[in-house]
Amino acid sequence: MPHHPNTPPAIARLISGMRAFRTTYYEQRPEPLRRLVTAGQSPEVLVIACSDSRVDPAIITNAEPGDLFVVRNVANLVPPYVADGTARGTSSAIEFAVRDLGVRHIIVLGHSRCGGIQALIDHTGGKALGRDFIAPWVSMVAHTAAQVPRGPEFSADPERRARQIGQHAILASLKNLHEFPWIEERVKAGTLDLRGWWFDLEHGELWAATVDEKDFAKVAL
Ligand SMILES: [Zn+2]
Repeated sequence: MPHHPNTPPAIARLISGMRAFRTTYYEQRPEPLRRLVTAGQSPEVLVIACSDSRVDPAIITNAEPGDLFVVRNVANLVPPYVADGTARGTSSAIEFAVRDLGVRHIIVLGHSRCGGIQALIDHTGGKALGRDFIAPWVSMVAHTAAQVPRGPEFSADPERRARQIGQHAILASLKNLHEFPWIEERVKAGTLDLRGWWFDLEHGELWAATVDEKDFAKVAL
């Protein structure tokens, strides 16, 4: 069926992309996807990523269907462990990945030029965001902005402060993951590991949290 003549270009691009995907994964090499359909998914990796359109974890890691279980939210935050019966999207995705799918690795994936981190900086700097949900969401890691106080060293390069706060926020999310009892249990048993990754959008570089989860080091690509 041809596109409706009024199909907007952005939507038409997605439909033709879907056609290309179907050609590759259903016609040219259908086996892997057929296996995923009949046997079910068993991804080894959970990625907690930002909703930002430029940092799709499957695209930047060249992953295949079935490789990554992904939860995305503003600024790739893991909320504190609170099991009080409230509906919690990120925590329920984490629970499904860990307790039902049995992932072996969790990656918290942050990035430079993050609008969520900028909102955190603006909000903690006293600027009114004028948004309904963003300020309380990013406030979850407000302490990370306090850990990197404004100073003369950042005046010429405010992105440097945003980068440090973004990386601190990843470490704060790792800390929160450790508080989930069924995560820490598996980490202690050696069946699950936690990683913090930070993607440098300008240069296509990857930085990873050090094993003590206190700092970041560049990964050789
Ligand atoms: Zn972001």
